[in-house]
Amino acid sequence: MIHNFNAGPSILPREVFQQASEAILNFNNMGLSILEIGHRTDAFQAVMDEAQSLVKELMQLDANKEVLFLHGGASTQFFQVPMNLLDESQTAAYLDCGVWGSKAIKEAKLFGKVNVVGSSKEKGYTYIPKDYTIPASVAYFHYTTNNTVEGTEMHAIPETNVPLVADMSSDILSRAMDFNRFALIYAGAQKNIGAAGVNLVIVDPSILGKTNRTMPSMMDYREHIKNGSMLNTPPVFAVYVCMLTLRWLKQQGGVSAIEAINKKKASLLYDTLDSLPIFKPTVAKEDRSLMNAVFVMDDAELEKEFLATCKANGMYGVKGHRSVGGFRVSLYNALPYESVVVLTDLMKDFANKKG
Ligand SMILES: *Cc1c(COP(=O)(O)O)cnc(C)c1O
Repeated sequence: MIHNFNAGPSILPREVFQQASEAILNFNNMGLSILEIGHRTDAFQAVMDEAQSLVKELMQLDANKEVLFLHGGASTQFFQVPMNLLDESQTAAYLDCGVWGSKAIKEAKLFGKVNVVGSSKEKGYTYIPKDYTIPASVAYFHYTTNNTVEGTEMHAIPETNVPLVADMSSDILSRAMDFNRFALIYAGAQKNIGAAGVNLVIVDPSILGKTNRTMPSMMDYREHIKNGSMLNTPPVFAVYVCMLTLRWLKQQGGVSAIEAINKKKASLLYDTLDSLPIFKPTVAKEDRSLMNAVFVMDDAELEKEFLATCKANGMYGVKGHRSVGGFRVSLYNALPYESVVVLTDLMKDFANKKG
């Protein structure tokens, strides 16, 4: 039995893999592969329509929100966001709480001024800064809801009247939140919603068109909205996999239902970590991520041994990010509770033998 704790690309529901592979051979009983049909066919338009409407339904979005599936990964959004929202003379506020957020800051500086209102960099991004203020004059406030590498998550939406922009790549659709509070949300698909190769972008069009910048059409959200997210050939297969995963999520009972399971998985893992002194969780308790749990051991040899034990027991993706070391266990929507049971049993066993 295989257990996949990969951080991204990561586990997707078994039935999504099955349906996606069937569609590669014979899509909708057309006798054609999904890989060989035009994106402007009725068959693909139906996929795009369903994907967009499932996003609206599952996130309970207001009617004015636009849902786009774009190319380039979340890293493209690091610069597409400021290109669309920030004039050279303006300032955007950013919270610096992880490697991904710091990359977003670097890119934003290419387009305007950046005010880093809070940072946990000096403590290795092991907590979420709390006592920061967002100036009322900034063009927008950007933060990362879940720090995939470091294992922290921002559990509350910041109180502010400035437009909120969030990178939700690694916790989108994992927990209920008021998604309508955000002017713009983006997420690379390969953690919680699908295969690599597509970004989900949700934008309130009233924030667009306010800068003096001219930009290439492919970078302009308004062009994508005008063209129904088909300004050029969309990543057809990646959008299809998103649609299947969104359907699956709806069948599970939606975001609140999956949140309950995600909390159960995270509780089991963190309770186990807290009960076994051999494992040392690295981040502040109140900021622990429900999606990525990061922990280390004091002894590098023991770490190697535990990794080998995981591998021998069919567990993938337990090794920590190269910048943090130790271990990272990702608990995305599609990871079954049973995988966490098997892992935590293994941890207890290992601690017993070594303790
Ligand atoms: C994975 C990840 C990214 C980078 O995504 P790409 O699609 O590789 O560009 C950005 N932000 C967060 C929070 C991530 O988890």
